[in-house]
Amino acid sequence: MNRISKNISKLFVLLLILSIILIGCTFNNVPKKNDSNNSQQQGVNKDELVLVKKQKFVLGTLGGINAYSYTNEQGEKAISLAYKRIEEIENLMSTSIKGSDVYDINKNAGIKVTKINPSTMQVILRGLKYYDITQETFNIGLGSLIKLWGIGEDSPKVPTAQEIAEARKHIHLNNLEISEENNTVFIKDSKMLLDLGGIAKGYAVDEAVRILKENEIKSGLVNLGGDIFIFGTKDDSTLWRVGINNPETGGSGNPIARILMTDKSIVTSGDYERFFIENDVKYHHIIDFNTGMPADNGVISVTIVSDECMNSDIISTAGFVLGVEEGLRLIESQPDVEGLIITNDRKIYVSSGLRDELEILDNNFKVVN
Ligand code: ADP
Ligand code: MG
Repeated sequence: MNRISKNISKLFVLLLILSIILIGCTFNNVPKKNDSNNSQQQGVNKDELVLVKKQKFVLGTLGGINAYSYTNEQGEKAISLAYKRIEEIENLMSTSIKGSDVYDINKNAGIKVTKINPSTMQVILRGLKYYDITQETFNIGLGSLIKLWGIGEDSPKVPTAQEIAEARKHIHLNNLEISEENNTVFIKDSKMLLDLGGIAKGYAVDEAVRILKENEIKSGLVNLGGDIFIFGTKDDSTLWRVGINNPETGGSGNPIARILMTDKSIVTSGDYERFFIENDVKYHHIIDFNTGMPADNGVISVTIVSDECMNSDIISTAGFVLGVEEGLRLIESQPDVEGLIITNDRKIYVSSGLRDELEILDNNFKVVN
C-alpha cells in the first residue's frame, strides 16, 4: 500500500471512530420518544432527561413542582401550565377572592342560586360524599366556625362559648341545594358558609399532575404545602422515598419515618401546620363539629396514601377529627387508601397495607399495632 492510500485508510478509520462517538452521544441526548412507554415500564432512563423544578406561592402555601423532562423548555412549559391550572382552581374555590364560585355561593346564601364551574361542582360533590362516609366529621359547610376562629386570617382568636354554639347551628349540609344538571348551588341557611380549604388543595394537586402528564412528563412530583402526588420513578427505576415529618417539631428537623412509593398521593394533616397560641394553649386549624373547637383527641398527625390526592386530603382531615380507632376504621374501609396516625404519646398506628412500605427512622416513635 502506498502512503496516500495508507493515510486515506487512517482517515477513514478516524472518521469511523468519530461517527461512532457522535452516534453514541446522539443516543444519550436525544429523547427516544417512541420508546417512552417502554421506558416508563422499566423506569425512566434519567440520562435522557433533565430535572426541571419550580416553586411558587399558590393556594396560601409554597407550591413545588419537579418534572423530569426531555428538555428544559418542555419541562418549564409543562410546569407553567400546571401552575396556571392551580391558579384557576384558587380563583374558583377561595373563600376570600371576590367573584370566586365559593365567594359567590356564600354571598348568595339564603338569597339565590349561584351558577358555578363544573370543577367546583366536582369538588363539592366529593365533599358531600365524604360528609356521609366520615359521619359528618369532614364538612365543607363549616365556614361559619372557620371564620369565627379566624383560621387562615391574620388575627385568629378564641371565640366565646356562645359564639361557638351560635355558629354550630349553621353547619348542616342538608341546607345545601345542588343541581348537577344546571351546575348551580344554593345555601338555604343564610348564615351558613362553604369552605373548601380541606379539599381544594388535594384537587389542585391531582389536576396539576394531569396537566404534567398531558404535557409528556413521565416522572415528577407536585407538592402543595404537604399535599403531594408522586409519579414515575426517581432514578433508573427506583421508587421515591417520602419522609414523614416529626409532628413535634413540625416541618423542621429530621423525618421520623419514610415510605417507599410511586404513582400515589401522600397527604399529612398535622396540628403543627397552622395554629396560634393564646394563654399558653395551642389552637390548630382542624375543627371538630361536635364541639366547634379544634379537634382534641391526642392525635397530632394523620398521613394518608391513596390514588387521588383529593381523597387523601379529605381523609387526612377527617381522620384527625375521628381519632385513632375510628380514623383507622375509616382508612381500612376505603379501597386503595392506606395511612398512619401519630398520637401525642409518640405512638404510630399503621393501616394493614402500609406496614411493609414504612421504615421508622426515629426510635422515639413506636408502631404499636
Ligand atoms: P392543611 O390546609 O394544613 O393542609 P387540612 O387539609 O387538614 O390542612 O385542611 C384544613 C382546612 O380545612 C382548614 O384550614 C379549614 O379551611 C378546613 N377545615 C377545618 N376543619 C374541617 C373539617 N372538619 N372538615 C372540612 N374542612 C375543614
Ligand atoms: Mg386535608
